[in-house]
Parts: sequence; C-alpha cells; structure tokens
Amino acid sequence: MPVLKLQSLWSVTAPPGPVCEPLSGTQRTQAVVIGAGYTGLSAALHLAEAGREVVVLEAAEIGERASGLNGGQVIPGVKPDPDVLERLLGPYAGGRLVATTGAGPDLVFELIARLGIECEAKRAGWIQPATSEAALVQLARRVEQWLRRGAAVSLLSRSEVLQLTGSALYRGGLLDRRGGTVQPLAYVRGLAQAVLRTGARIHTRTPALRLGRRNGSWSVETPQGSVSAPVVIIATNAYTDGISEELRRTLVAVPSFQVATAPVPVELRSTILPEGQAASDTWHLLRYFRLDASGRLILGSRGTFSQSPHLRDVQYHYQAVHELFPQLKGIPFEYHWGGLVAMTQDQLPHLHELGPGLLAGLGYNGRGVAMATVMGRVLARRALGAQVAELGFPVSPVLPVPFHRLSGVGARAMIQYLRAIDGLARLGGRVRSRVPFRP
Ligand SMILES: Cc1cc2nc3c(=O)[nH]c(=O)nc-3n(C[C@H](O)[C@H](O)[C@H](O)COP(=O)(O)OP(=O)(O)OC[C@H]3O[C@@H](n4cnc5c(N)ncnc54)[C@H](O)[C@@H]3O)c2cc1C
Repeated sequence: MPVLKLQSLWSVTAPPGPVCEPLSGTQRTQAVVIGAGYTGLSAALHLAEAGREVVVLEAAEIGERASGLNGGQVIPGVKPDPDVLERLLGPYAGGRLVATTGAGPDLVFELIARLGIECEAKRAGWIQPATSEAALVQLARRVEQWLRRGAAVSLLSRSEVLQLTGSALYRGGLLDRRGGTVQPLAYVRGLAQAVLRTGARIHTRTPALRLGRRNGSWSVETPQGSVSAPVVIIATNAYTDGISEELRRTLVAVPSFQVATAPVPVELRSTILPEGQAASDTWHLLRYFRLDASGRLILGSRGTFSQSPHLRDVQYHYQAVHELFPQLKGIPFEYHWGGLVAMTQDQLPHLHELGPGLLAGLGYNGRGVAMATVMGRVLARRALGAQVAELGFPVSPVLPVPFHRLSGVGARAMIQYLRAIDGLARLGGRVRSRVPFRP
C-alpha cells in the first residue's frame, strides 16, 4: 500500500508569508508571546496596537501548525449551547461568554477587512446538517436558544439542506448566517504581516525551551538566545510541549485529516454548496466540508495517528465524499493533510493565569478560527490590565484531564468507540452516548 504524499491545499494557494529570523542574543521587551497561530498573533496584534512592545516566538514557521492547516470554517460560538453556558456559569457570566463567543466571526471578518488580509474571506454562513432525527431535535433547540439572543440562525428542512449543500443524506439542519470561510493559511500569514507592521517582532524557528522567573520578570530561553518581559502569553494549543507540562495535561490532542479534490467541473459546481456555506455535520466523528475559491471540495474528519499515512488511511474520507456527493465519483483527490485539534473535557476553550503576568489560552475543540482570534484579544486585554469581569470570558483553573498519560491510548479508543456509535446509528439503531471528547 503506497504511503501518501502529504501536502495541504492551503500551502499551494496562499500568498507567501513574511520572512522572519530566529531569535539570537539577549533581549528585553514588554510582552512575549509563545506561538504564532491565531491565538498568539491576535494577542500580539492587540497588545501592539495598544502600544506595547511585543516579541513573538514560533517553534516552526508561521501557519505550519493548526492555524495554517485547518478547514477554514469560521464557526460562531462554542460547542455547549447558550442555555447550558448560562446554567453552568450563571446568567451574567454565562451570558457574557455566549455573547463573546457568538461574536467570534464578527472579529475575524472585521480584522480581515481592517487589516486588508487577502484570504478568500466569504461570509455566506455555516450549516450544521443533522445526521438523525434526534440530532435535528437538538438543533431545533439550539436554533431557538440563539434566536432568543437575537442571532441570525434558522432551522432548515431536509429539502433546504439538500438545496444548500447538494447532499441528500441529511434530515434537516441549522444555518448560522454569522459564519463563513477563509483560506486559513492566508489568514494567519496576513495576521503575521499586520503584527509586523505594528513594529512587533516575530522570530520563527525559535522554540521556547524554558521559562523562568527572575527579579519580577519572566525569562524565556530559546536555542540561540533569551528574551525577558513582565508578561508572557502561552499560545501553543494542541502543540503545547515541554514549555508547560501542566498546560499540556489540560487537553487531549486529537488528529483530524482533510482531503481536497481537483476543481469540480463547472457544470457540477452548482449542485454542491451553491451559495458557498461551510458545513460540519452532527456525527460523533463529524465530517466537515466546503469548497475553496477554485471549486475544490475539501472534506475533513477524524485523522490517523500515523506520521506517514497510507492510502488505506484515507479511504474513509474518499467514501465520505462519494456518499455525500455521488456526482464527484471519478474526480481525483489531489491534496491530503492533517493536524492536531485540542480537545478539553468540558468542550470549552480555557483562559488560564499560571502566575503573575503569565497567561495562556487554548482548547478550541475544533472551532479555533474564530475562537482563537477572540482568545488572543481576551489575553491581550487581560495583559493590559482589564479586570476578569470585563473580559467576557472566565479564567479557568488548570485541571489536568484525568489519566492524561493514557490519553493517546484513550483518544484512539475513543475514536473507535465513536465510529462504532456512528456505524450503529447509520444502520438505524437509536444510540445514546455520553462522551467527554468529540473530535
Ligand atoms: C485538520 C484541522 C482542521 C480544523 N478545522 C477547523 C475549522 O474548519 N474551523 C475552526 O474553527 N477550527 C478548525 N480547527 C481548529 C483550529 O485550527 C485551531 O483551533 C486553531 O488554529 C488554534 O490556533 P492556535 O494559534 O491556538 O494554535 P496553532 O495554530 O496550533 O499555533 C500554536 C503554535 O505554537 C507553536 N509552538 C508550540 N510550542 C512552542 C514552543 N515551545 N515555542 C514556540 N512555539 C511553539 C506551534 O509551532 C504553533 O505554530 C482545525 C484544526 C485542524 C488540525
């Protein structure tokens, strides 16, 4: 079985990113940001725009990790429904969190417009198609909750989903007009260009190796130098490594994998997502799909844990494309790539305070295009001195996922379990499951 050549579609169609150099020597600044994805760059941008001197350290190149690899679906809100958040946190804090996270796409599309980022941005909405009658009932509740809060969300019938997606598989769905799509790598590179224009510095190929506290300041050591500052923001999400073992234990990194077809012939294009929405369905191992600017269909779902996957590892994705869109049989698949998604036990992103001036934001559960951008701004506001009550986002205790050491094994077992549940549901079984993580 041949090994797949992994290459992301986005790396071929994004404009080049800025050229940055590794950090060398000893520096002092006002804020250090570790990680140059959406979280870190949004934090750096908002800090620099408020007049702070900022240094960003990135272990790889800009967009080489999740922010340059994802599906580019700009999804409003977090996984738990608005009423659940208000019950969990109380009406005031819960309501603020619902408002902050629901407005995530506003922030993304405003930044893109204000900073002039060329990233194929399109705000046509986001669809959540229902894979079962039970899921449709749940979506109807979700729609009702958002409508009570004035959001532009509606419930779709089976025929409306067929019309908007081109797939006859779904029972109905939810359309959220606040959502949309971006070319994710172009977006993160555009954010990096904007950060550099503020005068902030970004050092790529510069892993933060150690973090220490000296004379009331943080010092970050890198292979060829160090930088110290009173504020450090850790924005490493699913790729969190030894820089903070305690943070790494708060999440489980789950692989997600995508395939992209050749451009769909023009005569077929009007049958698939004709209005340009993105979609993520309600299977436990959800499938997410969209078109890019040149009409390629991109579909993502659970990933493989292998570093060098074989063709057989993506048969599931090919089958999913053909099940959803039988008219695409015969169109070749040209790009295959994957990355890690950070899942938290409560399905919420977490803002942490790890020490004086030491902040972290992570755990977007597959919804980080909008949420990580929002989190970056929240982190910047907190670092600039905002009170927790003003942030619209709670500060969470740093709690390890139980049995984290086994989480690699656990994530594999969980994927098999969810696959079995989806399989049963496909055969018509009524299945109720309570699972802590849903990739
Ligand atoms: C395949 C896939 C599909 C997805 N699809 C979607 C989608 O369609 N919509 C959506 O909303 N979300 C999606 N997501 C999730 C989304 O991509 C992430 O939530 C988001 O990009 C997180 O941004 P981030 O900046 O926090 O993390 P990242 O973009 O991963 O950035 C973290 C950075 O930290 C760096 N780093 C790590 N350790 C160190 C260190 N010690 N020193 C210096 N740098 C370090 C890493 O190199 C990395 O660049 C998807 C994710 C994947 C993997």
